[in-house]
Amino acid sequence: MLRRQSARESAARTYARALPIVPVRARGLTIEGADGQRYLDCLSGAGTLALGHNHPVVLEAIRKVLDSGAPLHVLDLATPVKDAFTTELFRTLPRGLADRARIQFCGPAGTDAVEAALKLVRLATGRGGMLAFTGAYHGMTAGALEASGGASDVRVARLPYPQDYRCPFGIGGARGADLAARWTESLLDDTKSGVPAPAGMILEPVQGEGGVIPAPDGWLRRMREITAARSIPLIADEVQTGVGRTGTFWAVERSGIVPDVMVLSKAIGGSLPLAVVIYRDDLDVWPPGAHAGTFRGNQLAMAAGAATLAYVRENHLAERAATLGTRMLTQLRSLADEHPCVGDVRGRGLMIGVELVDPTGTPTDAPTAAPTAHRPAGERPGEEAEADAMAAAGSVVGADPGPEAAMDRSARPLPPAPELAASVQRECLRRGLIVELGGRHSSVVRLLPPLTITDEQAAAILDRLADALTAAARSHHG
Ligand code: PLP
Repeated sequence: MLRRQSARESAARTYARALPIVPVRARGLTIEGADGQRYLDCLSGAGTLALGHNHPVVLEAIRKVLDSGAPLHVLDLATPVKDAFTTELFRTLPRGLADRARIQFCGPAGTDAVEAALKLVRLATGRGGMLAFTGAYHGMTAGALEASGGASDVRVARLPYPQDYRCPFGIGGARGADLAARWTESLLDDTKSGVPAPAGMILEPVQGEGGVIPAPDGWLRRMREITAARSIPLIADEVQTGVGRTGTFWAVERSGIVPDVMVLSKAIGGSLPLAVVIYRDDLDVWPPGAHAGTFRGNQLAMAAGAATLAYVRENHLAERAATLGTRMLTQLRSLADEHPCVGDVRGRGLMIGVELVDPTGTPTDAPTAAPTAHRPAGERPGEEAEADAMAAAGSVVGADPGPEAAMDRSARPLPPAPELAASVQRECLRRGLIVELGGRHSSVVRLLPPLTITDEQAAAILDRLADALTAAARSHHG
């Protein structure tokens, strides 16, 4: 089967290359291959499976629709299934948006919803430009691709996304985020910056494909203030971060910001394809049929999605993700102390990244401080003084190092190690653990386990990862 796949499918196939398995059964965290081998799945359909594989409430919801004789294809007509999904989804939305929200059902993928959001704000503002960030990933269709980090297009102005480990300003932490915000502000206000009048700003509250980089709350609030003051709609792409993944139901909630537009997909379909754009009613400028599409009424996905949203809400799985995620980050950071090839451990909730580096390489020079590797936030000399200075200067970015802050904001980053990361992924697979790679240089091992995992399963994941890391590092560095 695998041979036939590689002979017949496109050279663009992705996951199948690194994960040569043939899944035939799955439940929760576990996938079983055709060869009988079992795997702990921390890829979770690229972050789709909030409840893991084939959760009973999801299966029951799907069966109920099938048994009811309801039509499976209805274009965008009203149905009881859709009504229930919309009610459940609206119930979860950030206050301030929920009361005035409109929903547009899009084509079935996250990228379709991104496309729709870009189109909507362009029409609503009458402007053509777009603000997006370094390292962003918004999908593979033309507009979404333009807004993603790898692309270059005159209509998209690329702004620095704050990051600690590879801070473009060589500082990281609160000061790096502050500089990133100032750069954005100055580009928008400089009449000669060359930035076309923006119809919107699109951002991920935690960059996923970009390497698991959580935006500081203060920086998000700054982006909200900057866009609000200039009447630029703020689009939060919560395709990957939504439905409890990062420790709050929607990742933006942590910072308290209310975006004008939210792009949602992945987990909202409960493992089946579904994507929507949510926006405030005053942006609802579309004439009838302005954004159509045949497959916008997937009844099975709406039923599975409604069941998933309700289950996450009722069982407080966002809070569970926050607690478990913090514990896993702490354990991974102590693992990092034993492995010099771990450059950084970061994440939020159950969206976790381990950046692998070449410990024999030359570190990028950082002007601010000597390396203080792996010391917890708050114990580093000068950090508090720096935060105080930022506060005195009126910066709101400096407010939140937070428990998930990078383990070492002032480290001098070592060169990324994509080959080592690939070999960690292979070693994980040999030990029955499926992990994803991501990041600018494909050197970040990513964990996106279901929000339903037990403490024992979390421990098993970390054990296998630790083992794989040791094996891969040994074969790379002797
Ligand atoms: N936006 C974000 C933040 C994503 O992570 C992704 C996919 O990973 C997308 C958009 C695109 O979603 P899809 O692959 O369903 O088109």
